[in-house]
Amino acid sequence: MNKILNFIDGVYINPQNNEWIDKINPATGLKNAEIASSDIQDVELAFMASQKAFEEWSSFNPNLRFRILNRISELIEEKKSGLALAETYDTGKPLKLSEEFEIPRAASNFRFFATAALQFASESHSNYNSINYTLRQPIGSVGCISPWNLPLYLFTWKIAPALASGNCVIAKPSELSPTTASMLGQICNEAGLPNGVLNIIQGLGSRAGAAIVEHPGIKAISFTGGTKTGKIISSVAGPMFKKLSLELGGKNPCLIFEDCDLEKTVSEVSRLAFSNQGQICLCGSRILIQESIYEKFKKLLIEKVSKLRIGNPLDPNTQFGSLISEDHKKKVLSYIQLAVEEGGTILHGGQEIKLEGQCANGSFILPTIIEGLHAQCRTNQEEIFGPVITLQKFSGDDEAIELANNSDYGLASTIWTKNINKAHQISSKLNTGIVWINCWLVRDLRTPFGGMNASGVGREGGWEAMRFFTEAKNVCISY
Ligand code: NAD
Repeated sequence: MNKILNFIDGVYINPQNNEWIDKINPATGLKNAEIASSDIQDVELAFMASQKAFEEWSSFNPNLRFRILNRISELIEEKKSGLALAETYDTGKPLKLSEEFEIPRAASNFRFFATAALQFASESHSNYNSINYTLRQPIGSVGCISPWNLPLYLFTWKIAPALASGNCVIAKPSELSPTTASMLGQICNEAGLPNGVLNIIQGLGSRAGAAIVEHPGIKAISFTGGTKTGKIISSVAGPMFKKLSLELGGKNPCLIFEDCDLEKTVSEVSRLAFSNQGQICLCGSRILIQESIYEKFKKLLIEKVSKLRIGNPLDPNTQFGSLISEDHKKKVLSYIQLAVEEGGTILHGGQEIKLEGQCANGSFILPTIIEGLHAQCRTNQEEIFGPVITLQKFSGDDEAIELANNSDYGLASTIWTKNINKAHQISSKLNTGIVWINCWLVRDLRTPFGGMNASGVGREGGWEAMRFFTEAKNVCISY
């Protein structure tokens, strides 16, 4: 049985307690690996390795840092097929998505922040009697904790800026998607990253993750995951005065106006709702449609969604794969049941689907469309994080904005209209960290990424990430 070990000080090692967690392929229901169930002892080893490496890495010439990080990017590209396959085995997502979207983006993350290592600069402020300059210094040992939905993509989104700005990292992927993170260790060795600069701890959040957050020597935590976990982490890290970046859940609205490009909007809404089986934090789940086109849009959307090809994630034609686990499948089904109890009507899907052959015991649910629910009900307020969307009607701009903002979350929204002036005005009134107009998931890695309210604190991306992973020190010289 394949064992997924910790990667500490440049070598793969067993967890100190020799305890293991079963890893299940959710598309087949079969165990395909055992993962190290790490605890505080492993985190301590990783911390010691990171401290030993910090002096050398933080004082590296940026050119050298650039070369190593860029080489990691190239190696991710070279090993794309193996990484994509591992991602699909771990998560049940279509192989095509892993190959064409996720692994290339992991490579881009390293390439982008490799260049950031060369270009990062700080401010200077002159005054009548003095000049100030800001030193941006690495923090030391930092913790990066990431979720299962876009495993290597989100893991590298944190690690790359942390390394580019001169920190050493103790990182933990989700226990549900450990493999590509583990493979990254070998890639870092091949690229010449010094031992101890990146350490990868495998295991449960409540054990290995908590040990990273609680460690007094780990001075910053960059976390992506659920809002409930974010609350626990901030309750621990806050009183320890750690730097904290929290990228949390969402309940993202899509505002569809009567003057949208109907065909394109239907197609994009199907994509933004059901990509990765609805398990992307940025997926739209509250679809708000102007009443004059409601019935027409609904009919076209159902037609489009009913054509999604559901199947074995390894089949290159599959567009819609398995959910991450049997437990998650049960959770999503319980929300569909709740929606019915709350008065919703299921227009499409609403149940699990049993495939034949290899995937007979997989965790598959049909893409689900529901209408007739009140904006305040739990189905419309709580994050489901699966292939379930609700349709709601609005009459004009004010009502659209009110419905969109009727949420504790504030991650991402989309606006669909040909009236760009209106789209600009509405963008400024939406309480989300990201607004896409007539598009979705179009990403420029320089832009600030993150959410408001229950969707998180702080921003990732571009200089925001480089600033998060550095301490600003003002030096003042009197004239
Ligand atoms: P999760 O919160 O259960 O787990 C995320 C990570 O945190 C995992 O590695 C887990 O092991 C670890 N963890 C769990 N408990 C911990 C603790 N007490 N201390 C430290 N670490 C702990 O989330 P998930 O189920 O893996 O991911 C789904 C969630 O992530 C959804 O809510 C989704 O919206 C969110 N998400 C947000 C973004 C974003 O950028 N805002 C991106 C992707 C996913």
